[in-house]
Amino acid sequence: MKLHLRRVSARRSWLAGAPAALLWCVSSLAAPEADAAGAAARAPTVLTFAAIVDGTGEPVAGREIVVEHGVIVAIGESLAERYPGARRVDLSGLTAIPGLIDTHVHITYGLSGPSRGDAWHQLLQETPAPERLVASIGHAAKMLEIGVTTARDLFALDHVDFYLRELIERGIVPGPRLFLSGTGIHPLVMPVATSGTEAERISSLSQRARDVADSGAAWLKIFATTGTGSDLSGQRVYHYPEIKAATDIAHARGLQVAVHAYGPAAVPDAIRAGVDSIEHAVDVDDESLRAWAASGIFYVPTIDHNRYYADHREEYGYDDGAERALRAFISRNVAMLRRAHEAGVPVAMGSDAVMTMFGENTRELEWFVAAGMTPGEALRAATLNGAQLLGQQDRLGRLAPGFAADIVAVTGQPLTDIRAVTRQVVWVMKAGEVMVDKRRTGNPVPPRGK
Ligand SMILES: [Zn+2]
Repeated sequence: MKLHLRRVSARRSWLAGAPAALLWCVSSLAAPEADAAGAAARAPTVLTFAAIVDGTGEPVAGREIVVEHGVIVAIGESLAERYPGARRVDLSGLTAIPGLIDTHVHITYGLSGPSRGDAWHQLLQETPAPERLVASIGHAAKMLEIGVTTARDLFALDHVDFYLRELIERGIVPGPRLFLSGTGIHPLVMPVATSGTEAERISSLSQRARDVADSGAAWLKIFATTGTGSDLSGQRVYHYPEIKAATDIAHARGLQVAVHAYGPAAVPDAIRAGVDSIEHAVDVDDESLRAWAASGIFYVPTIDHNRYYADHREEYGYDDGAERALRAFISRNVAMLRRAHEAGVPVAMGSDAVMTMFGENTRELEWFVAAGMTPGEALRAATLNGAQLLGQQDRLGRLAPGFAADIVAVTGQPLTDIRAVTRQVVWVMKAGEVMVDKRRTGNPVPPRGK
């Protein structure tokens, strides 16, 4: 009994300390009736839409989807006859798309309160792990609100990403499915490796790759160059021999490898090393681009986060020069995506969201269309391609029988105007459970955290 009381009071104090944005998010999510939601996820449910668009970027014949045990079991017309007694949900004014996949977030980067104008310092020096966990719970809810049902996190300290995933998987807090890297290989975490002999660097990164594998991570993140926030420098940190050694160890242990590469410098090394995705890169020359396309390695451009930093410069203390540099980098990033897409490099959507950017993750797709993709290709980058990058293409990223019932309903025409996907999400189902339903409340836009 004592334990129970202590738990209740701990929970109360946790809620009292939660940011207002978190409480807003939690209250606007679908009713938290765990038993009812669980029963609904198990019983067959027939969902009726105006239209259905698959993760291939193509429309699907039929307007009905049957969901049972959290999985799509049928798609077509007049399916209710085959499932007598099934629950029916009328979404006939909306178009169904697969749950969206954000392949690059930093969900644990959050503060306990508003920024005082130096958000990075506040995060690294003043925000302890429990506060970051509270912030990450709010970020997870905001991602569901915009239809993101799966995400890959690419750097977190103190195992906060693992704690968050545990809370989501146990159904204690709502959030997307998470694929995690933990800390990965970052010069701040392992400064020894940036100096020393080649043999020492190989040994150091190899040990680090083993430690990351031991931690239970699904991904090894290698920060092969500098570059973050207003630092757009792209200086090399790690080189081919140590990137290759760490990549081989990760692959042998069943992990995939993501390389952080601002600018072009580390791209040829990453391709040669056989990594699985390259993040951020710009200005890659034609020869490297051909090798990249031939390799099948995914490009995650992360264009929109520099728009976010520029728009929110006061939170980070960035000056006029920093803002100009951020906006100039966007043009190089868009140009790189256009060339990569034309060359046949597979592209996945990744927002690189941090702090107050959660809730805007999918705006990245508007840049994809600006770079020459059709809305269908952009949708595919955020669904089927994301699933392929994560090795989940048999389970996620499509609306087809046998796939997880991760379904997003939007107003408008996603194959004509990508803003239907990025701005007009009304209803979200994850694994057969309704997580967001804004039909009754009239599609509110989440408040911008400032
Ligand atoms: Zn990042």
